[in-house]
Amino acid sequence: AADLPPVSESDPTAKALGYVEDASKTTNAKYKAGDDCANCQFYSGGATGRGPCQLFPGKSVNAKGWCVSHTPKKA
Ligand code: SF4
Repeated sequence: AADLPPVSESDPTAKALGYVEDASKTTNAKYKAGDDCANCQFYSGGATGRGPCQLFPGKSVNAKGWCVSHTPKKA
């Protein structure tokens, strides 16, 4: 499958969810150390690079990214 286009941090949904490409750069109070897209249940990509997120249909998010909807993957 073709790679999905990357979501922009300035995308309205991204802004609403406080999405950042680099989880370590967020200043959001909801961020917990260690959380990133790669360990979020809405993410279906690999541990590195980019992959799909259910909250951003048709776009890709960064494995090392983060947003306020982060929910830990079930084991
Ligand atoms: Fe990343 Fe999860 Fe937010 Fe999607 S919902 S952008 S995978 S933290």
